[in-house]
Amino acid sequence: MNASDYEIRDPRFSALIIGSARLERLSTGYRWAEGPVYVPAAKHLLWSDIPNDRLMRFDETDGSVSVFEKPCGYHNGHTLDAEGRVIACEHGGRRVSRLEHDGRWISLVERHDGRRLNSPNDVVVKSDNTIWFSDPTYGIDSHYEGHAATSEIGHSHVYRFDPKTGALSAVVDDMVRPNGLAFSPDESILYVADTGATHQPDLPATIRAYKVRSDRAGLEAGSTFATCEAGLFDGFRVDRAGNIWTSSADSVRVYAPDGALIGRILIPEIVANLTFGGPKRNRLYITAQTSLYAIYVKAHPPGW
Ligand code: MG
Repeated sequence: MNASDYEIRDPRFSALIIGSARLERLSTGYRWAEGPVYVPAAKHLLWSDIPNDRLMRFDETDGSVSVFEKPCGYHNGHTLDAEGRVIACEHGGRRVSRLEHDGRWISLVERHDGRRLNSPNDVVVKSDNTIWFSDPTYGIDSHYEGHAATSEIGHSHVYRFDPKTGALSAVVDDMVRPNGLAFSPDESILYVADTGATHQPDLPATIRAYKVRSDRAGLEAGSTFATCEAGLFDGFRVDRAGNIWTSSADSVRVYAPDGALIGRILIPEIVANLTFGGPKRNRLYITAQTSLYAIYVKAHPPGW
């Protein structure tokens, strides 16, 4: 056991970790690892290596790592829909796309009111199959993580997209650079991280909580849920008990639903994102700067 993998700030965190489980570095050599998504039917994890314009694959049956797709259109965040299809945020294509069961990528949404999206960053699917995604400018700010361009929309929103009707609406417009996002287990709250400090250094790095409107199509005004003490909150996930497992500069930080920081899993690189995977969904896969890490925990995503 490596006790230094954890910082326990509250007994509630002790109940979520396995004392003898230690952090494993599964693979390294990436420029910016992001967008992990666990695909149960394939027994693999996919993740993005954004500046290298490739999608990587970790095969959990033998631990091998391979390139899943290159070039891929500078993917960033991913998630699964109810049919188990991968939904992707593409910086290069400036769109949200979906990997069909026959292996084709199809475009779901590219424009809002006729203007091209900036560069979709992270995405979550609600139980009614609507797709909610953030659209900051990181993929068009330079040629490093996409293709440099001027924002046509002129703002960075969170959108709700209904694949059944094609309707797209901006649901968050009070953030500088909305980034990671996730619903509470009962889907009454949408949590969204704002990484706007990259463009406005005095802006606090926060996760904000937005109550979902009773018509389920929009959001009430948001409020600050947590403020990051180290770097920025980027991607994060919510477990079935409503705890938030989030990225930060030095660790995976775990917040109870009441907003208390209850503990940390120390990571030797800047954490960009994470997801629950494995056959029991109790393995936390962590993309951090140049590496993919994993650690077994006593937590599961909603539905498990
Ligand atoms: Mg992100």
